[in-house]
Amino acid sequence: MIYFLLLLLVAPLEAVRDGRMIIAREGLVDVNKQSPMAHPVQPPYRKEVIVLDPGHGGKDHGAKSLTKPPILEKHLTLACTQVVRHSLEKLGYRPLITRKSDHSLALEERVEFSKASQPDIFVSIHFNSAPNTDAHGIEIYYFPSKQNKERACLSEELAQNVLRRSLEWTGANNRLVKRGDFHVIRENDVPSILVEGGFMTNDQELEKLKNPHYLKRLGHGIAKGIDDYLTKHRQEKQQHHRATYHPPG
Ligand SMILES: [Zn+2]
Repeated sequence: MIYFLLLLLVAPLEAVRDGRMIIAREGLVDVNKQSPMAHPVQPPYRKEVIVLDPGHGGKDHGAKSLTKPPILEKHLTLACTQVVRHSLEKLGYRPLITRKSDHSLALEERVEFSKASQPDIFVSIHFNSAPNTDAHGIEIYYFPSKQNKERACLSEELAQNVLRRSLEWTGANNRLVKRGDFHVIRENDVPSILVEGGFMTNDQELEKLKNPHYLKRLGHGIAKGIDDYLTKHRQEKQQHHRATYHPPG
């Protein structure tokens, strides 16, 4: 009892607030028993790995706004991807990111990184531009591979989940899920999507994208859509395992 009181005093308030207190307790109990199961205070990790890919970087600015000075797509993609990464970590996933700073990265290198990481899914994040300055809203691309129809089907499903949650969290215009032949989503061999999170050439949408609170909602919406998709497939796998498992003897 004294030990728990002591723990309550030393445990960071943060851990108590977000419900990690139990894990902190278990961790310390394990330490006392000299158990190899002892682990630091952190959310329980699910096994899924997600490769996040902030579009462009370095010399490749990507799209730009019509304002002076212009806002560059490469900065928005990195900021938004960092939010997605943070939200996924909080949900217990293991997100990996193709670039953490403003440097050039070839499309081939992004795919190589993804293949070497053996993720469950791949998500590239971009922002749009168009000659028609009225165009605004979110659209998400997947590659309709004929060689791998299952991957195409799962990619479309992932895109639908991410679109639904992104719209729910931002109230943005729905520009639907689309088929696209982009290198990073074509050459990957896991379900892959490319998110176009809004138009930098539309005045009203640009104002929103410049607002860190809006970008946070967009990033969180993307993460929630990823969570919906992975949760559904995790449950399906577990059901399949239960249905096919025959105890020995
Ligand atoms: Zn782009």
